[in-house]
Amino acid sequence: MADPKLTAPRGTRDLLPEDAPWWERAETVARELAHRYGFSRVEIPLFERVELFARGLGESSDAVEKEMFRVSGARGSDEERAEWALRPEPTAGIVRAFIEHGMHVRPGPLRLTTIGPMFRYDRPQAGRYRQFTQWDVEVIGDPGPAVDAELIELGHRFYRDLGIAGVEARVNSIGDATCRPAYREALVTYFAAHTERLTDDSRRRLHLNPLRVLDDRHLDPELAAGAPRSVDHLCDACRAHFETVLRLLDALGCAHVVDHRLVRGLDYYTRTSFEFYVAGREGQQDALGGGGRYDGLVELLGGPPTPGIGFGIGLDRTILAMQAQAVPLPAPPPLVAVVGATDDGVARLRVAGALRDVGIAVRPDGSARKLGKQIESAVKAGARWAVIVGEGELERVALKDLASGEQRDDLDIPAVVAAVRLT
Ligand code: AMP
Repeated sequence: MADPKLTAPRGTRDLLPEDAPWWERAETVARELAHRYGFSRVEIPLFERVELFARGLGESSDAVEKEMFRVSGARGSDEERAEWALRPEPTAGIVRAFIEHGMHVRPGPLRLTTIGPMFRYDRPQAGRYRQFTQWDVEVIGDPGPAVDAELIELGHRFYRDLGIAGVEARVNSIGDATCRPAYREALVTYFAAHTERLTDDSRRRLHLNPLRVLDDRHLDPELAAGAPRSVDHLCDACRAHFETVLRLLDALGCAHVVDHRLVRGLDYYTRTSFEFYVAGREGQQDALGGGGRYDGLVELLGGPPTPGIGFGIGLDRTILAMQAQAVPLPAPPPLVAVVGATDDGVARLRVAGALRDVGIAVRPDGSARKLGKQIESAVKAGARWAVIVGEGELERVALKDLASGEQRDDLDIPAVVAAVRLT
């Protein structure tokens, strides 16, 4: 047993070799799709100023108010601790980088993508971790509405390509600076009449940010059902935008439902908001991903007024969904073991090198163990073939099919390559 003081921190997970094929599949599909949709990769720091998140996400958001992971150096002062935090989400950092590097002068709209860990000091449970990984895409400088539908379609394509069935987008529009104030007022009036049914958090936030009350995990469902709906308060421009998004989703055949409670926890969102779920699994820990438009964020963080939209897909939950549905993974390329018991290992390494030169995955056994033992290890390691290097010429080897046990002697390397490639 590991020393309990030296185990992984609560809410974090180690990625073990048996999990790797799932992660590689999800990341490969994400990267490949991002490429196919014209996104360029960016990387931003894992930590930023607390101020950036406080401004970008809103002081009253859970991410800032309760879940911030503060960081400082070993000799950090309290002020320093107050200054830095691990990123709870990537949009604020990407927009900070967009402004800092003057990216608004580049020919836009910019399409940026990143995959990496996010940190929220939340109470861990199934599907909710303190460190989790998001695939994030952001389109900065495109007012939509076509791009809104395109991103939702991209999310759908991602889940479909991974083989996850039944994914549905829940969509809503939360208006903009023109129409949101009236909607906020309507929410305040409604909830103020029912404060006794609100949680402490919601009561406190009611006047600060009433949209967050709708977002409260513990909101009384009956109260939620009767609440004013943002779609009934949209200004003409926001309504036209939302109707076009819905029409495009229909035209693209993207499964979606309008969810009036979907307001997102973050202050900078405007207009289109969306989340992805496996239909029928719409609990708090079940959102596979979510995103939305943030037309006010660039300006809020000190840049020129610039519209933006993006999504963050949680890869941890995506992989849980892949495993729950037992989606098949593509077969890995066949592994070849190179074994031999007659030399110090040089010949085996050279044969391994020759096979790797042409792209074959090789696991040489450099030990001095008996050939039988080496082959046994190769089978346990999942090798499909064993190349047996003998005493004679380097270029002449035997090839053993570890599935059938059949062995062919005296082959040259091209013959080995041809046989392996046929599997
Ligand atoms: P959010 O920014 O909260 O909408 O998060 C976007 C996506 O990231 C969610 O839909 C989840 O898939 C994932 N996610 C958010 N928080 C966590 C967490 N604590 N643990 C695991 N995944 C998370």
